[in-house]
Amino acid sequence: MSGAALLPFEFRPNPNPATDAERAAILADPGFGKTFTDHMVTIKWTEGVGWHSATVEPFGPIPMSPATAVLHYAQEIFEGMKAYNAADGSITMFRPEANARRFIESAHRMAMPELPEELFVESLRQLVRTDRAWIPSGEGSLYLRPFMFASEAFLGVRPAKEFLYCVIASPAGAYFKSGPKPISVYVSEEYTRAAPGGTGAAKCGGNYATSLLPQAQAIEQGCEQVVFLDAVHRKYVDELGGMNVFFVYGLDRTIVTPELGTILPGITRDAIFALARDFGYEVVERAYSIDEWRADAADGSLTEAFACGTAAVMTPIGMAKSVNGDIEVGGGKAGEVTMRLRQALLDIQHGAAEDTHGWITRI
Ligand code: PMP
Repeated sequence: MSGAALLPFEFRPNPNPATDAERAAILADPGFGKTFTDHMVTIKWTEGVGWHSATVEPFGPIPMSPATAVLHYAQEIFEGMKAYNAADGSITMFRPEANARRFIESAHRMAMPELPEELFVESLRQLVRTDRAWIPSGEGSLYLRPFMFASEAFLGVRPAKEFLYCVIASPAGAYFKSGPKPISVYVSEEYTRAAPGGTGAAKCGGNYATSLLPQAQAIEQGCEQVVFLDAVHRKYVDELGGMNVFFVYGLDRTIVTPELGTILPGITRDAIFALARDFGYEVVERAYSIDEWRADAADGSLTEAFACGTAAVMTPIGMAKSVNGDIEVGGGKAGEVTMRLRQALLDIQHGAAEDTHGWITRI
């Protein structure tokens, strides 16, 4: 399942773009995922033809038959990444080729066609260049949402023969309203996110559908995010609803994070490995149990915990609530290692620090 590496993009400008005043009002307080830019990218895939009809077109509804396969069997994947107005006036993206590769892995697991890496990155470039006036300055960024779904109108349970790939963009401010202040997380003992052999490592919509009920329970408990435990032993920490999780053993200069398998291989997670090593910390990927979290937080050897992902970058975890007793980490305060790593990552992403790891792509 492949297609031409690069396609010509047809450009159909939006005849009614937002006015400068409308756009300025949105950019003054964009929130997250609420408003969208003037354009979107679409690329079609048809069995026997491959990828075709790449277009930059006005953002708007996608007409579809009620029999469209994705509406019935959820054959859908997506990605999330950001474009920034860098300090030097250029537009940058953070590791878009890593998102392209994860999109290919997700497509493979969901029996979908694989979009070539160069075409994925080119689709982002096309949209970001077209709608560059929508990129917020300062702490903000333009959140990009590439996604692909089974667009064939057919009710049989089999991989579809037609797919639509799209990219939409949304200006973003801070993700958590509380900013980088410590969040509370809720350990779900009732629900799991992903079993071995399942789709936990793929970024498919279905994973998020099943996370919504436990996530709602987390919010009822006054927490920002749900923590999922593994589906087999029901005791090892997997990840949060939309973020990976790390545990800092400050005295040992060691950072522990759950190993890959049933979790999403986060691109922020991977970047933190490199930054932590730059700071002289050892990074250990291994099974990490909720009992260990509780015991080590209580005796003080666990000095910090944090969550990470594209949307919120890095956020300290001050408290984990559980029916088996709450766990306070680091006195509920933002830890020093977390905040140092966070600033180092933000500085690279926003072009304020040297890109020593080669993570930045100029658009
Ligand atoms: N886990 C889940 C379930 C997520 O949705 C995300 C956000 N994409 C992450 C982890 C973090 O991944 P990344 O750092 O690539 O955004």
